Formats: sequence, C-alpha cells, structure tokens
Amino acid sequence: MLSLEELRGVVRGKVLISEPMSDHTTIGVGGPADFFVEPVDRDDLCRAVTFFRRHRLPCLVLGRGSNLLVHDDGVRGAVIAASGALCGYRIRRDGLVASAGEPLSLLAARSFEAGLGGIEMLQGIPGTLGGALVMNAGAWGQQMSDVVVSVDVFDGDRVRTLKRDAIGFAYRCSGLDDTVVLGAALRLRHLSEADVRERTAAREEAMRRRKATQPLSWPNAGSIFRNPLPGESPDGLGAGAMIEQCGLKGLGVGGAVISDVHANMIINTGGATASDVMELIHRAREAVSSRFGVMLELEVMLAGFENACC
Ligand SMILES: Cc1cc2nc3c(=O)[nH]c(=O)nc-3n(C[C@H](O)[C@H](O)[C@H](O)COP(=O)(O)OP(=O)(O)OC[C@H]3O[C@@H](n4cnc5c(N)ncnc54)[C@H](O)[C@@H]3O)c2cc1C
Repeated sequence: MLSLEELRGVVRGKVLISEPMSDHTTIGVGGPADFFVEPVDRDDLCRAVTFFRRHRLPCLVLGRGSNLLVHDDGVRGAVIAASGALCGYRIRRDGLVASAGEPLSLLAARSFEAGLGGIEMLQGIPGTLGGALVMNAGAWGQQMSDVVVSVDVFDGDRVRTLKRDAIGFAYRCSGLDDTVVLGAALRLRHLSEADVRERTAAREEAMRRRKATQPLSWPNAGSIFRNPLPGESPDGLGAGAMIEQCGLKGLGVGGAVISDVHANMIINTGGATASDVMELIHRAREAVSSRFGVMLELEVMLAGFENACC
C-alpha cells in the first residue's frame, strides 16, 4: 500500500492527489489522476517512475496533453508531468540534442533560426519533444522519425540510448509507448540562403493554413483519427474529408462538437465530458464505416479507458 508520506520523501517536486486531468489536457476533458507528480528534474522524474513501478502502480508520462483523451473517471495510478522536469537543448552544427519536455515549436523555431532544416514545418504542433517522439508527430511532409538519430529512455531501472532503427517508428506511432522518453538527438541539415527563403515562405503558408483550417480558438486534442494510408480509402480521402462527406460537421453531443472548420477535430465548447467525445467518435466511426467501408483508427491516445464502458 502506497503512503503519501513515503512518496513525498522520494520525490522533490509537487505531488497532488486527485488532480483533475481536464486542467492538463488541451481539450480540457478528463477526471482525476490518483497521483499527479511534477518532478523538478530528470533524476526526480526517474525516482518517481521507479517508485511507482516498485509499488506496481501504472504510470502515465504527460507532455502537454495535446494528444490525450482522459476518461471522466480519471486515471488510476500516477500521472507524471515531464515538461517541467526534462528541460534544456543544445543546437549543434548538424542537428540538436534536447530534453523531452522542451516544446517542439521552440525547437523547430530555434533550429531554423540557426540555419538548420528538418523540423521547421512542425512549428505549429503544440506538444513536447517527448510527445512528438512517442506519436511520431508530423506535418507538411516532415515527421520526427526522419530526423531522429537516437532517443534516451528510462525503463524503470536504467537509462538506455535507442538508435532510430530500434524504435519501430510508423505513421503517427512508435515503439516508445511503454518507455519514459528523456531526450533525443536529431540530425538536421544545413540550409543554404535560398533554402531559408523558400522554407520561410513555406512555414508562413503552413501557419496561415493552420489558422484557416483548424479550430484553434477552441480546446481540442488535434486530429482524432489517423488518416488512412494510401490505398486504404476511396480516392485517397483523409479521415476529415470522409467525416465531412457523412454530413457530421457541427454534430454535437453535450459540450463536444465535431468542428465545422475541420471534421477530424472535436472541440470542447464548454463542459464537454470524455463520454461526449467518445460518443462523437463512435458516431463518426460508424458513419464512415457504413458509407466508405473504412474503419477509422484513433490517433488521439486514450487514458483511463482500459476497463471502462465507453
Ligand atoms: C491544435 C492542435 C494541432 C495539432 N497538430 C498536429 C500536427 O500537425 N501533427 C501531429 O502529428 N500532431 C498534431 N497534434 C497532436 C499533438 O500535438 C502531437 O501528437 C504532440 O506530439 C503530442 O505531444 P504532447 O507533449 O502534448 O503529448 P501528450 O499528449 O502529453 O502525450 C501523448 C502520448 O505521448 C506520451 N508521452 C508524452 N511525453 C512522454 C515522455 N516524455 N515519455 C514517454 N511518453 C510520453 C503520453 O503518455 C501519451 O501516450 C495537434 C494537436 C493540437 C491540439
């Protein structure tokens, strides 16, 4: 049986009990985490992970919560916030080395300013480096797996360095789900002056498109479904296009609504619950399956749904 005093004796950072996850996810949904830990640094985070594993309690490592849907009953065990604990980055001649809690947008901006290309198009993704590695985040023709050299992970006992080919990256997923990502080395390429001009224009256009085609003023969790791979949907339609063609834009359940700007995003218009969001997910899946014969897969990660009826 875990004692709070024992935990507070191990972890130097803040330890909260029954912390609402709605305060830690960009969609603003989710019930309480039994334990919510904000370690002060990497050692503190590793100690917390080891502590929970020793007590056989599940541990969810949290980045910015921008790709996460947490059950209304919350998550059992611990949520460990990585963003304040895993800080720091160094730009090198041919890439960068960064801790997993650093915002991806910041790394994209700073490396581009240093004349390096490879992640500059990922600037609008609102997550941490750790979350981006786990999700193999990508946009506008770039994705994390293209630039990873190695990733440092903690397995509960020791820190290991995994080379890119051992990680099992695929479209919007990786083999990193069950590890704690501490940081990574990325290889980026030197940009000529002409490249910089062309990439600057491309970045501005991408940010303009994001603002025009995403419901950025509402809480959301990014794309709910993965886009089908080439050949997996009629005419190569993306998840959003199929949902839109099913006439589901604007469909609401409780406080959750399928965005009328981007049909693959669900927004929280106020007071949405995870079960509202789940109901929309089920309806979109059913509609797309019966009209297009495509079973959409979730891109958003679920937490706390294991044994729950959703
Ligand atoms: C408005 C908006 C736009 C978006 N646009 C894009 C886009 O263009 N492309 C794209 O790919 N995604 C996009 N996303 C989704 C999301 O931002 C990315 O998936 C991002 O990489 C998630 O990072 P995070 O830090 O928020 O991770 P979280 O949501 O906190 O976590 C995601 C998963 O990673 C795990 N995780 C996080 N950090 C660690 C760590 N250090 N160690 C181990 N596991 C960890 C979590 O346990 C969870 O399973 C968008 C989201 C929003 C809200």
